[in-house]
Amino acid sequence: MRIVLLGAPGSGKGTQAALLKEMYGIPHIATGDILRTEVAEGTELGGKAERYMNEGGLVPDDLILEMVEARVRRPDTRRGWLMDGFPRTLEQAEGLRIMTERIEQRVDAGVILNVDPEVVVRRLSGRRVCESCQAVTNVSEMRAGACPLCGGKLVLRPDDEPQVVRRRIEVFEQQTRPVFEYFREHYDVVDIDASKTVDQVTEALRRGLDRYDHS
Ligand SMILES: [Zn+2]
Repeated sequence: MRIVLLGAPGSGKGTQAALLKEMYGIPHIATGDILRTEVAEGTELGGKAERYMNEGGLVPDDLILEMVEARVRRPDTRRGWLMDGFPRTLEQAEGLRIMTERIEQRVDAGVILNVDPEVVVRRLSGRRVCESCQAVTNVSEMRAGACPLCGGKLVLRPDDEPQVVRRRIEVFEQQTRPVFEYFREHYDVVDIDASKTVDQVTEALRRGLDRYDHS
């Protein structure tokens, strides 16, 4: 089963990806992780990517696609894979479709986590990270204003500042929303209401995705 998980920032994509990975026993492929691994292992692709990053630039799409291809060809993807955080633009979506078809790993379905923009702002601006144990939590789970796990100090990440959140949502609407329509044209799409609780969303994903699990 080859699944691409799509959703706005704050749609709970990362959380659900981790749960789906366990549920179906397939690797979770996130481009950020691939990039870090290639750089850390000092591969040729990693070296190229590092040069762009050191110059403060973005890693170009064709290089990211090469890394994604190398990743989905690893032996642990025999039963499939779950992609998250990619593609973010129409060009990347087109590149991914062409590449996966060329290597005969066509995507089975796109999963769209639909969430109200107001819910996104509330979720992200309520998110805190613990300075001591690095746990990510929400203001609603704080205990006496501190980390519910270790009592450490909770801080707002720069990425979750309200004005940064609004900017991230704008970029998402301009660049990534069109990817959803691209998936609707080219693939099966499973629409999920991601405004619900984590457990409800996981259950909806299970109902939507079981038919693609051929293991
Ligand atoms: Zn803590």
